[in-house]
Amino acid sequence: DWDHDSSAHEEKIFVSVRLRPMNERELGRNDVSDWECINNTTIIFKNSLQERSMYPAAYTFDRVFGSDSLTREVYEEAAKKIALSVLSGMNSTIFAYGQTSSGKTYTMAGITEYTIEDIYDYIDNHREREFVLKFSAMEIYNESVKDLLSTDGTPLRLLDDPERGTVVEKLTEVTLRDLNHLKELLSISQRQIGETTLNEMSSRSHQIQRLSIDSEACEYFGALNSSKLTASVNFVDLAGSERASQTLSAGTRLKEGCHINRSLLTLGTVIRKLSKGRNGHIPYRDSKLTRILQNSLGGNAKTAIICTMSPAHSHVEQSRNTLLFASCAK
Ligand code: ADP
Ligand code: MG
Repeated sequence: DWDHDSSAHEEKIFVSVRLRPMNERELGRNDVSDWECINNTTIIFKNSLQERSMYPAAYTFDRVFGSDSLTREVYEEAAKKIALSVLSGMNSTIFAYGQTSSGKTYTMAGITEYTIEDIYDYIDNHREREFVLKFSAMEIYNESVKDLLSTDGTPLRLLDDPERGTVVEKLTEVTLRDLNHLKELLSISQRQIGETTLNEMSSRSHQIQRLSIDSEACEYFGALNSSKLTASVNFVDLAGSERASQTLSAGTRLKEGCHINRSLLTLGTVIRKLSKGRNGHIPYRDSKLTRILQNSLGGNAKTAIICTMSPAHSHVEQSRNTLLFASCAK
C-alpha cells in the first residue's frame, strides 16, 4: 500500500506517456494517427514500415495510456502513489511534459483534483493525526518567478535558507480551511494564468502548484509516536517542449527562447542524471525551475513524469522528441 512504503531510496522516476485523442482540426485536415499503445507499457509507431524510419518503432515506459484513456486511470496508475507519498512525509513532484496542445494542462488539472480529494479523504480517516495544509502557486516565465495567488506581478526572488533550501521570497502561502478552500485557490491560480498570460505566453511558462502538509500525532489519542512530518507535493505544468528544440528567431523571442531553454534543458539534464543514479554533480542551480524544485527531485523525493503527445502525423517530430525525453528519464 502506498502509505506503508518505506523503500524510498534511490527510486527511479516513474515515466509514463499519454496520447490524447485526435482533435477536430487534425481530423478536419485528414491527418492520420501515427501511434498506438499495444499494451500497458509499449507504444508503437504504426507507420514505420512504410517510412523505413531510422527511429525506433516501439518504446517501453513504466506505463503508457492510449487516446481513449481517462485522466482517472492516468492518476491511479501513474501519479497517485507518488503524489500521496507526501502524507508519509516525502516530497514529491508530478510533471506534465509535452508540446503545446498535447494535453499537459488537461491531464494535470485532473490529477491535481484527484490528489487533493484523496488527501482530504485520508485526513478525514486519520483523526489520530493533526494536519495543517498550505497552498501556493507560482509561474516561471523568462526565468522570472511570479506569485499566482497575488495580482501584484512583481518578480519574486529566490533565497537560500540553510534549513529549508531554496525559498521563494514573499510567495503567498495560504493555510487551508478545507477541501473547498483549496479548490477555490486552485481555480484562482488557474484563472491568473488564463488572464495574465496569453496562450502564446502560457506555452512559454512553467506553472507550479504546491501543497505543503505538516502533520503531528494528536495528544488526545495518547500517541507514543509524536513524530512530526513535513512535506510538499508539486504539480508542474511545464512550458511546451517545442521550446527546448525550436530554432530561435531574433529579438525578444530569442531572449525568451533562451530562458525557456534554460529551465527545460536544465530539467532534462537533472532528470537524466537522477535516472542514471549517479552521485556526481547535479546542476539544480542552473535554472529557477530546478532550484525551486530541488528538494522535491532526487534524494528521497518521489517523481513522476507524464509525457503527453498528439497522435497526429503532422506532429511526428515533436512526438519523437517527447519520447526521446521520456526514454532518457526512465
Ligand atoms: P497543453 O496544456 O499541453 O498545451 P491542453 O491540455 O490545453 O494542452 O490540451 C489542448 C486541448 O486538447 C484542450 O482543448 C484539451 O481540452 C484537449 N485535450 C487534451 N488532452 C485531452 C484528452 N486526453 N482527452 C480529451 N481532450 C483532451
Ligand atoms: Mg497548457
